[in-house]
Amino acid sequence: MLLAEIISVGTELLFGEIVDSNAAFLARELGARGVTLHRKTVLGDNLERLTGAIQTALGRADLLILGGGLGPTDDDLTREAIAAALNETPQEDPALLSWLEGLYTARGRVMPAINRKQTWLIPSAEALPNPVGTAPGWFVRTAAGKLIVALPGPPREMQRMWAQQVLPRLPLPSRALLHTTVHTQGIGESNVAELLAELTKSANPSVATYARKTGVDVRVAASADSEAAARALLDPVLTQVRGLLGRWTWGEDADTLAGALGRALQGRTLSVIEAGSAGLLSTLLADEPGFLDAAVTQDHRRLITLGLTPVTLQGAGLVSEQAARELAAGAREHLGAEVGLAVVVQAGGEQAGQAYAALHADDLQKSLGLNWPGDPAQIRERAAVAALALAYR
Ligand code: ATP
Ligand code: MG
Repeated sequence: MLLAEIISVGTELLFGEIVDSNAAFLARELGARGVTLHRKTVLGDNLERLTGAIQTALGRADLLILGGGLGPTDDDLTREAIAAALNETPQEDPALLSWLEGLYTARGRVMPAINRKQTWLIPSAEALPNPVGTAPGWFVRTAAGKLIVALPGPPREMQRMWAQQVLPRLPLPSRALLHTTVHTQGIGESNVAELLAELTKSANPSVATYARKTGVDVRVAASADSEAAARALLDPVLTQVRGLLGRWTWGEDADTLAGALGRALQGRTLSVIEAGSAGLLSTLLADEPGFLDAAVTQDHRRLITLGLTPVTLQGAGLVSEQAARELAAGAREHLGAEVGLAVVVQAGGEQAGQAYAALHADDLQKSLGLNWPGDPAQIRERAAVAALALAYR
């Protein structure tokens, strides 16, 4: 098993001025290739702490990936730290020097002296060419058989070099990793976790839940020596997950909410009335070919012209299941579509978190209620997604 750690270097990362998206990218890449990642660390531009962290990581992991700190300035210290951690002395590499000088002269410029350190190598390092920048990476094989990869910080450079230079050099496990993500809507993460309690105890296949804006995702993954063996592990558990979550499932893997809705509409047109959700439902529907028209309003008089009855408004109120049903029917009738969808939301005030959605079609009428606290943006978003889910469940 190849055990990996990532160290992201940069004071701006440490202080939160930029987000460490490189480590997220690398973590996904490693996971997809069967490499086990045990730690991600963020460090500022400090030689002593960086050197110490490299030594500590090499005591635990087989592969250490460092991102950032390969630039030409005094606060770019990754090369210095690797050299110090391995007790080696950096030297200018003639081939790298002529490559970098050539890069400048080709543009009619003289290479600044501070860039010379980008041509450094240590005896155990091999240079990784950078096709889009001035900072070559390092691929280091230590005397103890560990691997260190140092890549520049800018994501475009890091990702290109990872794919072109690093992956072909890594002793990747030959294991096959298969995974499927099941998307649900209308059930909370703790309820999903309860339903899947027995399954989530297993390490391989692994079953994990993730709360997303579109609902709770369940990822089932299995690894084995061959694809067939991984498939044999994955499939029975996936079948169980699908069975347990069937009522709430709207798609798998790359499926999108709008795509699921499109399938459910079967070529019919859709119009929408939104009261209190600030147009979010319409935004979610933006790419849906059957989406015809929308009214986004909280004005009572306008809503009455769109199908809300005064009786309901004065009785149950605007944020009620009955109002949602009347407006769904109204969306069909007044906005001229084959399917009407309505959502009514109380995003603020004492009743904040109450919302109802309803769907009206020839063959089908249904509605649902939500009542869960949150900030107004969360409440609106949840209601809009739940309304969308009504159409395909
Ligand atoms: P350069 O030659 O550009 O100086 P470098 O290897 O020294 O490269 P850094 O100076 O650490 O890299 O970072 C350069 C820029 O790359 C940062 O300002 C930031 O925009 C981006 N960057 C660095 N690290 C990360 C990271 N972990 N995630 C996302 N972006 C990053
Ligand atoms: Mg830099």
